[in-house]
Amino acid sequence: MTETGNNPNDEIANLHWLLTILQNIDVGLAVVDSSYRVQLWNGFMENYSRIHSSMLLGKNLFENVPGLPEEWLKNKIKEVLMLSSPVTSSWEQRQTVFGLPSSRPFTGGSGHMYQDLSIIPLTSIDGSCSNVCIIVYNVTEAAVGKLRLEDANHQLRMLSITDGLTKLYNRAHWQECLEQEFRKYRRKTSDVTLMMFDIDHFKHVNDTYGHPAGDAVLRTVSGLLKKFVRNSDIAGRYGGEEFCVILMDANEAAGRLVAERFRKLIEQQTVQYQDMVIKFTISLGVSQLTPEFATAKDWMISVDNSLYYSKEHGRNQVNVWSEIPHSDHLEAKN
Ligand code: GH3
Ligand code: MG
Ligand code: MG
Repeated sequence: MTETGNNPNDEIANLHWLLTILQNIDVGLAVVDSSYRVQLWNGFMENYSRIHSSMLLGKNLFENVPGLPEEWLKNKIKEVLMLSSPVTSSWEQRQTVFGLPSSRPFTGGSGHMYQDLSIIPLTSIDGSCSNVCIIVYNVTEAAVGKLRLEDANHQLRMLSITDGLTKLYNRAHWQECLEQEFRKYRRKTSDVTLMMFDIDHFKHVNDTYGHPAGDAVLRTVSGLLKKFVRNSDIAGRYGGEEFCVILMDANEAAGRLVAERFRKLIEQQTVQYQDMVIKFTISLGVSQLTPEFATAKDWMISVDNSLYYSKEHGRNQVNVWSEIPHSDHLEAKN
C-alpha cells in the first residue's frame, strides 16, 4: 500500500487493489459471520466450486454449499470466534473440507483437491469478533506425492519380505515372525505350534519333468497352503522345497491334525504341467512351544528333527516332537 494522505480517492484505489488481489489470489478465501452467512467468496472458490459469489453472499454457507462436514466446520468456526485465535487443519487429518475438484486430475492422480485449512478471526476496530476467514490451500500435488511415496514404500517392503516364486513370506521375514511369536507366547498361556514340511524326492520331480515343472509344483503347494491355514497362522518358504507354518492357538494335537489333513490333501493332489501329470508327497514335523525350548532356534530345531524323522521312516507321514525318541541335546540335521 502506498503512503497516502487522506485523499479518499487514494483509499478507494487501495481498496480496489486489495479486492483485486483477494479475488485473484491462488488460495481460497471464504468469510462467514457468526450465523454462517457468507460475506466473501473469492475467485478461487468460485472457480473450483462453480458457485458464483452472487449466489452465496448473505446466505447460509451450509445451506448453499453442498457436501460440507457441517458439524466439524461449525465447531471449528465457533472455536475461532470464542477464542479469537486461528485454528488449522491439514489434509492428513481431513483430506477435503470443501468438495472441490483437483486442478490437475490427470497428472495429480486424484479427482479431488486435498486441502489444508486455516480459519482466522476477523477482529473489528472495536475489538469484537463476529466474522472468520476460512483460507483454503490446494495441497493436492504434495499430498498425492506423499501418498504415492508411502504406497511405493509399502510395495518395496512387501517385495522385501515375500518369496518371488510362491508369494509366501521369505525365510528372513518368516524367521523374524518366529522370533516375535516365540517372545510373545512365552509370556502367554495360549498354545502355539510349529509345522514344517518338505516335498519328498523333489529332486526326482525336477529331474523327470524339468525345473519349470518343479516350479509349478512349488506354486501349487504354496497356493494350497495359503488356502489351508487360518489367516492368523504365519506361513513361509523356508528353503527350496521346505515350508514352515506357525499355527496360532494350536496345541500339539491340533497341530498333528492340521499336518495330517494337509499331508492327505497333497497326496491326493495332481499338478498338470503342459502334458505332464505330476504326483508327489510331503513329509511333516510338528512341535508345540513348551518351556523345554530356551530359544526360537531350539524350537525350530525340534520341528526340523521331527520332519527328519518322518523322512527317515518312510516319508509321506507326520511326526510330532514329543513322540519321537530324542536326546536331551537338540541338533540341527540340515
Ligand atoms: P527328500 O525326499 O529327502 O526331501 O529328497 P529331495 O530330492 O526332495 O531333497 P533334496 O534336498 O536333495 O532336493 C531338493 C531339490 O529342490 C534340489 C533343488 O534343485 C530343488 N529346488 C530348490 N529350489 C527350487 C526351486 O525354486 N525350483 C525348483 N524347480 N527346484 C528347486
Ligand atoms: Mg525334499
Ligand atoms: Mg529339502
